[in-house]
Amino acid sequence: MNFELTEEQRMWKKAVHDFIAREVKPQAAEFAEAEELNWPAIRKMGPLGLLGITIPEEYGGSGVDAISAAIAIEELGWGDGGTALNIAAHTGLGCAPITMFGSEEQKKAYLPRAASGESKLAALALTEPGAGSDLQGVKTRAELDEDEWVINGSKAWITNAGDCNYIITLVISDPEHPQGGSRSMSMIIVPSDTPGLHVAPPEKKMGLGSSHTNAITYENVRVPRQNLLGEEGRGLHQTLKTLDGGRISIGAISVGIAQAALEEALRYAKERKTFGVPIAHHQALQWMLADAATEIHAARMMIYYAAWLKDQGKPYTKEGAMGKLFASEMAERVTRNAIQIHGAYGYSREYPVERMYRDARLMAIGEGTSEVQRMVIARKILDEIQ
Ligand SMILES: Cc1cc2nc3c(=O)[nH]c(=O)nc-3n(C[C@H](O)[C@H](O)[C@H](O)COP(=O)(O)OP(=O)(O)OC[C@H]3O[C@@H](n4cnc5c(N)ncnc54)[C@H](O)[C@@H]3O)c2cc1C
Repeated sequence: MNFELTEEQRMWKKAVHDFIAREVKPQAAEFAEAEELNWPAIRKMGPLGLLGITIPEEYGGSGVDAISAAIAIEELGWGDGGTALNIAAHTGLGCAPITMFGSEEQKKAYLPRAASGESKLAALALTEPGAGSDLQGVKTRAELDEDEWVINGSKAWITNAGDCNYIITLVISDPEHPQGGSRSMSMIIVPSDTPGLHVAPPEKKMGLGSSHTNAITYENVRVPRQNLLGEEGRGLHQTLKTLDGGRISIGAISVGIAQAALEEALRYAKERKTFGVPIAHHQALQWMLADAATEIHAARMMIYYAAWLKDQGKPYTKEGAMGKLFASEMAERVTRNAIQIHGAYGYSREYPVERMYRDARLMAIGEGTSEVQRMVIARKILDEIQ
């Protein structure tokens, strides 16, 4: 057992950290407040390899291992939750399915551009107005008309939908399949400029201002038959595999946000005085800080462990769900206490901890709510004792 990062992972972490400390963190409040993506930084992420962390080198990606990918997303979370979500959705949801299931032509057509930083981001559209946790409720329909898929339906809450080149869309392709639900779905790559694809203005969200989330409607959207991703009827299976990796990313963002909030709280606790001493001298606050440091450490280890399992080619569904569940709920506690330590100033937009609290709140909802993670974990542990 070895808990050390490799020399390469340490160098990667430092390079990413330095970039984010310069290009993302100082600008985070401004972009969040303006509800704009930090495009100047995102453009520079291509050459650094951050946009291609789930793409092999032969297709223009950085080809890094899963631990390095988690480190990059954690550092992004430390810099800005919204930017972290954009990049996690781009790499984990928009690019990873093409890396995992795409044909050679699809990989060559989409991945090098996605990794470069010269084009827009990528998106994955699973959720619908009537189907989130229960994806068997998906209604968006794709029908073959000679050599084209014709797509009709709507999706909701899609990260990057208005800021991407293509949207991988989960559809019902064969409603009559004898094996029903799970074999009736497929994934189809829909270029964003396809006629009939309408992306609504960004949702007004509680936090993550520098990330856009949009509803989409598909009105007789036609794409070539070859845009089917992977095998027909494997859409739900592909979705679950994609979400396994996505959960490591959401857990990593949570660790990053919590780390940033703890650093703010430590700094403030040493400066602010009450009753003649810095508030860091009060035991009640020391316990909050100690709990935060402990829980962040535990969450980080859980996320790195799930990533390590992924790197070893071992199953990691349970460990990824555990990491995401613990890290996202931990981030909420840590950011909540960071506000508490700041007193009234914590409630002010002049200090970053209230933004971190709002950003962290999504992590227990997106890519499977905490309740869904508990369902996944419970199923696995119940199966294990048969
Ligand atoms: C900012 C943001 C970004 C997002 N980005 C994307 C994206 O890029 N792509 C995408 O496809 N989706 C995206 N989503 C959607 C997100 O994944 C869903 O919101 C999430 O999966 C929950 O689905 P829902 O909102 O429909 O909640 P519901 O499924 O309606 O759940 C409502 C409540 O019921 C609980 N619940 C549901 N079923 C059960 C059960 N069986 N047992 C116990 N409790 C249950 C849930 O945990 C939750 O508390 C995003 C959402 C947000 C807010």
